[in-house]
Amino acid sequence: MPEGALPKKQKCEDHAVTKFREYIRIKTVHPTPDYDGAISFLRNYAEEIGLPFRTVEVHPARLVAIITWEGLDPSLPSIMLNSHTDVVPVFKEHWKVDPFVAEKMENGDIYGRGTQDMKSNGIIYLEAIRKLKTEGQRFNRTIHLTFVPDEEIGGKLGMEKFVVHEEFNKLNIGFAFDEGLANPTSAFTVFYGERAPWWIRVKCSGNPGHGSRFIQGTAAEKFRRIINSFLDFRAQEEKKLNGNACLKLGDVTTVNLTNIQGGVQFNVVPMDMYAGFDIRIAPTVDLQEFENKVKNWCTQAGDDVTYEFHQKCTIQDTTSINETDPWWKTFSTVCENMGMTLEPEIFPAATDSRFIREIGIPALGFSPMNNTPILLHDHNEFLNEDIFLKGIDIYAAIIPAIANRSA
Ligand code: ZN
Repeated sequence: MPEGALPKKQKCEDHAVTKFREYIRIKTVHPTPDYDGAISFLRNYAEEIGLPFRTVEVHPARLVAIITWEGLDPSLPSIMLNSHTDVVPVFKEHWKVDPFVAEKMENGDIYGRGTQDMKSNGIIYLEAIRKLKTEGQRFNRTIHLTFVPDEEIGGKLGMEKFVVHEEFNKLNIGFAFDEGLANPTSAFTVFYGERAPWWIRVKCSGNPGHGSRFIQGTAAEKFRRIINSFLDFRAQEEKKLNGNACLKLGDVTTVNLTNIQGGVQFNVVPMDMYAGFDIRIAPTVDLQEFENKVKNWCTQAGDDVTYEFHQKCTIQDTTSINETDPWWKTFSTVCENMGMTLEPEIFPAATDSRFIREIGIPALGFSPMNNTPILLHDHNEFLNEDIFLKGIDIYAAIIPAIANRSA
């Protein structure tokens, strides 16, 4: 170290990074997220920036926080910058540091649950807004920063309720940004649609009897055919993905056998066996045709094979990424001008964006995290502080263009 230089640890930390680390330390982790802690953190943040803060109770104990920067023409459809405040649980023993301390390494990597998914975006929006406001800028459209609960458990008491709430309607949103994923290369991924999650439980019923005999029409024989049908389809889709470099995970349908039940004891052939499948259907697939396929698999497996849905999402709306679309054109032009490479994709899992798109509002999932491994829901989730700070500059360039876009 050169004489007089401060060790890295003592170097003055950017205020935005300090706020980010503070947010990570609030344990908004399922199954008992500290939502009160998040709300009070955000209330103070809004006060610090000098913008009005309010909450909307979409369900008892489920509040959506809204920070608003009014535009010069509030009659224009507004811009929504959305993030969820909750995070998924951790397996602490697999982490090299405490996931709720937001420890920063020598190289600037900040470790913690939510550093990628998606407390980073929440702070990036806030700090981009702070920057623009400090510069004295004003925009035509009103900007709403929304912070929603429960995304990580399906959004049933969060965004799904919020989008049908009268307060949401009053926001008059014309365009939304929400979460995306990190990209391990120098490019940035942007998501314009998602796959539809279907959770299907198949019940195979057959003849019971003694475990020593050749019983005919057993549940297990039907169970085997069911598993083969679903997993053969899985193999085809995997082959399709691997055989075409243009396809991404979000462009094909995935099937996974995630739970099975059945049987009472070794010498008894059981009457019923159950197989549970997690299926994520690509937006290009006709859902009715897909369900017919499932029906056929059940019929082919034998008598008394039935299925039920534990989740059946029928939302297949996508946001236009056509050059003629004014929102996309504005967004992609700003990115291009900054020398960024964009990779538009279908989100492989589900986010709150589906509820926004379903009611006809265009939404892009964009978390500006390039050169970063995808670690959402994983052990040792981290984000480098330089990437995080660059994300603020990126949104600080995108927001003015989007919020000034003419009607
Ligand atoms: Zn998320």
